[in-house]
Amino acid sequence: MPRPTAATIHTDALRHNLAQVRQRAPRSRVMAVVKADGYGHGLERVARALSGADAFGVAALSDAERLRAAGLSQPIVLLSGFDAADDIPQLRQLNVETVVHHGTQLNMLEQASAVGPIRCWLKIDTGMHRLGFAPEEVRDAYARLLAMPAVDPDVVLMNHFASSDEFDNRQTRHQLQVFADATAGLPGARSLANSAAVLGWPDAHADWVRPGGALYGISVVGGTTGGDFGLRPAMTLETRLIAVNRIRKGERIGYSATWECPEDMPVGVAAIGYGDGYPRHVPAGTPVLIGSAQAQIIGRVSMDLMTIDLRGHPAAQPGDRVVLWGEGLPVEAVASAAGTIGYEPVCSITRRVRFIEA
Ligand SMILES: *Cc1c(COP(=O)(O)O)cnc(C)c1O
Repeated sequence: MPRPTAATIHTDALRHNLAQVRQRAPRSRVMAVVKADGYGHGLERVARALSGADAFGVAALSDAERLRAAGLSQPIVLLSGFDAADDIPQLRQLNVETVVHHGTQLNMLEQASAVGPIRCWLKIDTGMHRLGFAPEEVRDAYARLLAMPAVDPDVVLMNHFASSDEFDNRQTRHQLQVFADATAGLPGARSLANSAAVLGWPDAHADWVRPGGALYGISVVGGTTGGDFGLRPAMTLETRLIAVNRIRKGERIGYSATWECPEDMPVGVAAIGYGDGYPRHVPAGTPVLIGSAQAQIIGRVSMDLMTIDLRGHPAAQPGDRVVLWGEGLPVEAVASAAGTIGYEPVCSITRRVRFIEA
């Protein structure tokens, strides 16, 4: 028997979520962001399911290589840009578009040969202060790009939001204004919106939206889940109970004996732990599903196993299905117990977990 720990990827949910994004941003083209191995769902499988997207966004040239090897011919955009002159011939060979966010990249492109112009997305730092040209540098950078034989004159203008997950946020309104001012009068398509801006900032939809999380059914908007926006979880992480033990009142469960049984009680042991990517530092009380009923983790999550309070589940027995997140238990609930956002746990699944495509 293979280990029962498995991540099922629901390709119909991916397609449903893409359709939801299109409904919310009907005048925009959609770049499906598939960086970090498709947010942990599997790059090729996600891209095939989302082949109706207008482009794919990746963070590494190696991901673009994998998409081309898988036969995907859509436009691909390298979101963090290239970082060495050697990357330029590869951009051409793979027909990959690149973000340009720094003067060193302009210098490398100026040195590059003219054959096969490269499509560039000029990134403007409108206030997040991670990547991008300062607003006052934009016109000069734009003019330099247009003058380069190595660059396609159809340059896209983009920025990235720091706080679009708050739908009434002053910084986001400010970033929108800085972007409008910095790009006023320049021709070219515009792209501003990540998932949260697709959901909550219609003024930012522009020509291209760039959702990642929403396509996987995950919301980063505080206190919400993807389901609140009509999205469906694209991953179900599950395992099985491999033991049900009766433990006496006053006995303590697991490493460092952090949880004490308040009465004689059944404790379930599930075959999943931080070695599978489940967050180790979730507190007791973090929810799981036994079948379709909610139960709670008790004690420390260990490498291969976790322990579950089965007092409300008298019929539970070894072999029963345990769902860690998915339909019926949003990953956002586990993430918030772990002090993080839903993106992190899905990106953290390890290689020993079986992936099943459904
Ligand atoms: C990751 C990323 C996105 C997607 O962000 P989500 O919150 O997952 O929608 C969009 N644009 C850029 C530049 C990114 O790096």
